[in-house]
Amino acid sequence: MSNNTADIHQKETMSNLRAALATLPMMFITLIMLSGGKVPHDARHVIAFLVAFLFLNTLFFLMLRTGRTDRWRAVLFIVFAGVFVISFISHLIEARGSMAISQSEMLECRTPFCHIVIPMTIIPLALTRTIIFPGTMMGVYAAIASMFVIWIGASLSLGRGFCAWGCFFGGWDDAMSRILKRPVIRKIAGKWHYLPFAVLLAVVLTSAAALSPTYCMWLCPFKAVTEYVQVTSVKTFLQMTIFISLFAGLVLLLPLLSKKRIQCGLFCPFGAFQSFTNKVSPFEVHLDRDLCVKCGRCITVCPTFSMTEESLEKGRTRMTCIKCGKCIDNCPKGALSFHVKGASRTDHRLAQRLLFLYPSFLFLATMSGGNIQNTIVRIMGLITTGSLLAH
Ligand code: SF4
Ligand code: SF4
Repeated sequence: MSNNTADIHQKETMSNLRAALATLPMMFITLIMLSGGKVPHDARHVIAFLVAFLFLNTLFFLMLRTGRTDRWRAVLFIVFAGVFVISFISHLIEARGSMAISQSEMLECRTPFCHIVIPMTIIPLALTRTIIFPGTMMGVYAAIASMFVIWIGASLSLGRGFCAWGCFFGGWDDAMSRILKRPVIRKIAGKWHYLPFAVLLAVVLTSAAALSPTYCMWLCPFKAVTEYVQVTSVKTFLQMTIFISLFAGLVLLLPLLSKKRIQCGLFCPFGAFQSFTNKVSPFEVHLDRDLCVKCGRCITVCPTFSMTEESLEKGRTRMTCIKCGKCIDNCPKGALSFHVKGASRTDHRLAQRLLFLYPSFLFLATMSGGNIQNTIVRIMGLITTGSLLAH
């Protein structure tokens, strides 16, 4: 073996070792999180636990070892969106016999809460001291209180990183935006970048006026794949038609053709709302203007229109940045990096990246881990009993 080959081999071994050591804390936390501090009680749960544990920690190791963030984040994020739907729909059917929600179930406050409703609840909460959502506060699947706690914690730490590291819907348009090699729709005019803020303003005001979450009632594309209102009238038929059309257009077709996260970047009111929390998050994406050669690659790949010509001039992203890391992965000059506000912009880049990755990955692992295990158990049940549902 030549000296050169031996050096390369030694460097690779050291890199693997460093990444493995940095993965150890994540292994410890995910071990506790996935097991809930208990030993799984049967073979199916043991297998589900082991698969989820190995899957999560392999992705984290690869993220550290390869220096690529978005590539491995996207694998978990997209898997999360898929397993969430399987697990959530199965739970709904077990709990109430159908994926559709009836008027009586709404009156009984049996609707699962989701983070997208949060901006719509704030004004009515301040004015009337009630939550305008037909869900229970405590103790049911996706209860209001737990979702508020998760949202506050994630917003304070990651800001709009919630949309790349925690949203159980985002993996849908993220997946669709990665299918084609080149976009069919190449340019989307800059004025559309303001649309989600207009949608946010409209749903906040109409929800306050109607004391009802108007986005959930009329505009949420994800009603097509989670729970929907039972079609019993012209109104509910119209709602279903809108939900399915928006899902097909904003979540499937346009992301496929444009290679952008259209629902997330141009329509979601929660995403727009969450952009403001980037101000309090300690993390941001930094652009080193001395290294940048203005090739525009980051502008092309950014899925949420958060990197523009103006960003290159100013050395920072737009406030809509979801901290997915795709621009960082793709910059040929290494001009972009995760940055901890207040820290040096040029020194300790690896440490700053690690400081960002621990809470971000842990958030995604926490949000997805239970759903991954649950779906694995259900799939094994499907193979052995012919049903995804628990008996
Ligand atoms: S990809 Fe990197 S070098 Fe190219 S414009 Fe963006 S920051 Fe500059
Ligand atoms: S600017 Fe970079 S990190 Fe932010 S959303 Fe765009 S690609 Fe992701």
